[in-house]
This record gives sequence, C-alpha cells and structure tokens, in this order.
Amino acid sequence: MARTDPTTPRAWANTLVRMWGPRFPVDVRQIALEYSTRFADPVLTITEAPVPSFEGALAPLRKRGGWVILYNPDIRSAGRINYTLGHEWGHYLCHRHQVPGGFECGESDVLGGSREQEREADQFASYLLMPLDDYRDQVGNERMNLDLLKHCADRYDVSLTAAALKWLESTSLCAAVVVATNGFVLWCRRSAGAAQAGIFFARGMELPQGSLAADGNRRASADGLDLAPGVWWSRPVREVAIFADNYEMTISLLIFEDHGVLPDGWEDEIVEDTFDRFSMRG
Ligand SMILES: [Zn+2]
Repeated sequence: MARTDPTTPRAWANTLVRMWGPRFPVDVRQIALEYSTRFADPVLTITEAPVPSFEGALAPLRKRGGWVILYNPDIRSAGRINYTLGHEWGHYLCHRHQVPGGFECGESDVLGGSREQEREADQFASYLLMPLDDYRDQVGNERMNLDLLKHCADRYDVSLTAAALKWLESTSLCAAVVVATNGFVLWCRRSAGAAQAGIFFARGMELPQGSLAADGNRRASADGLDLAPGVWWSRPVREVAIFADNYEMTISLLIFEDHGVLPDGWEDEIVEDTFDRFSMRG
C-alpha cells in the first residue's frame, strides 16, 4: 500500500469519486481495471462465472501475480451486478493483503471474509456508486416516492433497495426500510431519526394487518399509502411498497413524516446503526 492510500472504505470511495469526477452511473469495471494498474498485483480481468454458490468473487491469479473479479451473470438485475463488482473491488482495495486467498460472496454464504470485511465492502460499494452529496442533490426537497427512487436507482445503476437504503442514510427524516418474506420480517434498516425515536421492526415479526406489504394486491400510487397510527407503529406513516423480483419478498419504505426532522448537525452525532451485510443487495 502506498503511504498516501486511504485507510477506510469510505475514504477509498471518496478518493475514486473525486478522481473520476461526477459521471453516473459509475463504471466500476473501467475504474477497477485502470486504477489498480498502479499496484504490483492489479485486477487483470473482470469476467462472468455462472457459479450458483456466489454472486461475486475476488480470486488471486497465482501464475500471473494479479487478481480476477468474478460475477454471477445469473443475477437478474443489472443494478445488482454493478453493486457486486463494487463490493468485490472494495475487498481488493481494503482486504486483499489480509485475505490472500480471496473472497467468495453470496447472499447466504461467504468464504474468506469476516462479517466486518463484508460490511466494509458493502460500504465501499455504496459510497462509490452513490456519493452522498450527489444523492442529496437528486432528492433536494422533494417528497420521497417510488418515481424518485426509480430515478436514483437508474442514475446509479443499483437496485431500488440499495437506492432506498442510501436515502435512509442521507435523510434527516424518521424512516425505515422493512424487508419481509412470506409475511414475516427478515430485516429492517432505519434512518438516524428513526433510530433516535426507537422505531424498530424485529426479525420474525409478522407483517401488520392493513399494511401495504401484507396486502400486496392493493393498488397504491407512487406516493404509497397513508396509514393510521397503530398499523406499523404508534404514529401515522406513509408506506411506499417496493416489490422485489422475488415474489415472496416485500420491501416497504416507511416514512414517519409527522415526526419532524433531526436538527442541523445531526450527522456529526451519529453512531452508525447496525449494518446487516445482506441489506444492500436485493
Ligand atoms: Zn464480500
């Protein structure tokens, strides 16, 4: 590692965003191949590998002395492939010296890395593909809804879920993303405001009756549905439903608009919320 290289995933991402300028979507493939030539063991190839056990992998090329990034082309959405490439390249920049055997990363199984390294690779991909300043410029003072979320997902070439989670990170509103399967909550992520308000939906919780997620057939506009206090929480909430490719899966963006916003400077006070390593995928 050169003496001046960044030392955190977020700093790495910010450095590269500055070098490549504001061009979206970020071309992970091009940047990884170009930038890593400055190292003695560059990424030499980025290629498909239809191995069902992983979404992406970073593997050493022992004879040639470099690395290959592999991705599973069977991942259905292009946005997920872009994210996967960012994730694996994050492993290369941040972790290849600690794990010389490389990484295999999938939705449920990971070989090579620790949970913390997976979290860091996700954080790198998120900040590389969706710089916070640019994200905030896109949203401005507009009300978050499905159209705006789709705009962001298209701009950054990421999934709607990844775009929604980035919004949680960027907003001073009280909001959460709840992912459920077969009617039960799998995981939840919250904005700083929601964490402060103590709003939380535990894994295994049944989807509440009357929620959009529990009643997938109900028609809702891009703005979602206003729900009374007591459906999701003791406060009124607007639920925007993001139905995933996978039909058993529901993804709800919950926005507690009456709760107000965090005061200026809130970002400096934040202790990072627990980060589920699978949460930026999907
Ligand atoms: Zn990984």
